[in-house]
Amino acid sequence: WRDIELLASQMVTETESADARELPLIAICGRPNVGKSTLFNRLTGSRRSIVGDEPGITRDRIYGEIEWMNRAARIVDTGGVVPDDEALIPSEIFRQAKVGLEEADAIVMVVDGRTELASPDLELARLLLRGGKPVFLAVNKMDTDAMQSQAENFRRLGFRNVLPISAEHGSGMGDLLDAVFEVLPESEELIEEPEVMLTENDEAEEDETGPDFSISPAATLMTEASEVTAPRRPRMLRSHGEYESRETKIAIIGRPNVGKSTLLNALTGTQRAIVSPIAGTTRDAVDEVVERDGHAFRFVDTAGIRRKGKTKLMAEKLSVIMARKHLEAADVSLLIIDATEGVAALDANIGGYAHESGRSVIIVVNKWDLMTRTGKDGMRLFDGKPPADQKLYEQDVRDKLKYLDYAPLLFISAADGKNIESVFKKVELVARERRKRVTTGQMNRFLEKVDFQKASVPMNKRVRIYYMTQAAVAPPTFVLFTDKDVKMHFSFERFLGNQIRENFGFIGSPIWFKIKARNKK
Ligand code: GDP
Ligand code: GDP
Repeated sequence: WRDIELLASQMVTETESADARELPLIAICGRPNVGKSTLFNRLTGSRRSIVGDEPGITRDRIYGEIEWMNRAARIVDTGGVVPDDEALIPSEIFRQAKVGLEEADAIVMVVDGRTELASPDLELARLLLRGGKPVFLAVNKMDTDAMQSQAENFRRLGFRNVLPISAEHGSGMGDLLDAVFEVLPESEELIEEPEVMLTENDEAEEDETGPDFSISPAATLMTEASEVTAPRRPRMLRSHGEYESRETKIAIIGRPNVGKSTLLNALTGTQRAIVSPIAGTTRDAVDEVVERDGHAFRFVDTAGIRRKGKTKLMAEKLSVIMARKHLEAADVSLLIIDATEGVAALDANIGGYAHESGRSVIIVVNKWDLMTRTGKDGMRLFDGKPPADQKLYEQDVRDKLKYLDYAPLLFISAADGKNIESVFKKVELVARERRKRVTTGQMNRFLEKVDFQKASVPMNKRVRIYYMTQAAVAPPTFVLFTDKDVKMHFSFERFLGNQIRENFGFIGSPIWFKIKARNKK
């Protein structure tokens, strides 16, 4: 035990994040494979700890930040560096409990609700319950409503707070966070973003009285009480240090040969490029920073952007893994499409990760020169077809990347350095947009104007929205206070998202929603 204890303390210092702020800390504990990383990723909205069995990616960055109802906390996935070795599990459990009990203000133990409890579960529960810190049991993988009642079976572990969740689908997150934040010590309120002016004569008033049920507009929304039809995606927000940063982190993502390295060169080449290894990331990650007009553009892991696979299949797989890794570290992503090939399945796949990640997205159609450069006969030089029509081309891209309808689209030629300037401009724009904050007052005035009749809603699926508030930025996250605790129908979510965009913009950023029912604590 001595050795284990020593090992434990070393591991803790190793993984401690350098800029740990004075925020309360939540620890996630549990034996391997119960879904700790999935929960961590879901809560932080990032892909900091990598789930499953992707080779070459270690779970080395296990601290993250979350924001909930205008409060922030740090979160640690104590399962950070688990060898997949049964024999090591007991010491691993001990280490986790130690990290949790020594450092955290609240501990969430995760169990797999679909399997029998195993002895490491019992042992960990025993250690945690004896420790005297606030502890919560999250019974994970309760993917359907029907399964959720089974969570009660886990009460025999001795926890008073037992919450069914599905980390993968995102259900139960609100209740879990409500419960955990209730016991956390108060931290400073988050710094408010500068007020967003909507129109010139909008009086951008502060919401002085705070949310008030009595002034609520009786809006209705469509819900689906039973099936989970929403796509897999995070519902919570992480803040990822964006509050204090004056720089924008950019991920250049896309399948092999679309022109990522060429674009990176075009973006950094003529500028003063500072190459700096950043601490806390994997050893070979190198960023390049370009400063212009007082704005720093940090291109993340440029070594990774240039990396090529040996075979086509390897290169393709690697491009997906890299995209996910780069998204993790970015605010804004440039999704590069090869104009001569159009949107391929792999592009859509990578685009899907960008969308889910909560990062802002700009679609960049590269090699446009090849679509327009013509020979004497007026035909395109590279394939003998007529020059492409930009409008039609954009429509085609949009049709194939429907979920990225909020992403601006640019046509460039990285090799010729054409339209590179517009990339910087758009990055700056979407970086600003994703951090905008709308006051509750503005939000409520907006809600009153929305014509909910336009969203076709069956009467029996309606609930009342009392009010709506923006709980977080980057990406903008809205909490809807309603009379019933039911999931929002996907198409309604889209409708409301579009209405919000028409009024407030949020160009380039996904919009996340969260329902809070009034009749539940
Ligand atoms: P960890 O070892 O505790 O960090 O577990 P992971 O987060 O790596 O998850 C282990 C496996 O369980 C992965 O294959 C996940 O996709 C899966 N998983 C995690 N959460 C859920 C969930 O809510 N429902 C289902 N069905 N599977 C899940
Ligand atoms: P990556 O694998 O995504 O990093 O792609 P590269 O940057 O290595 O580019 C792949 C190929 O496309 C190279 O031969 C580039 O010269 C070429 N390429 C990149 N951008 C352009 C462009 O804008 N126009 C043309 N005609 N070729 C390009």
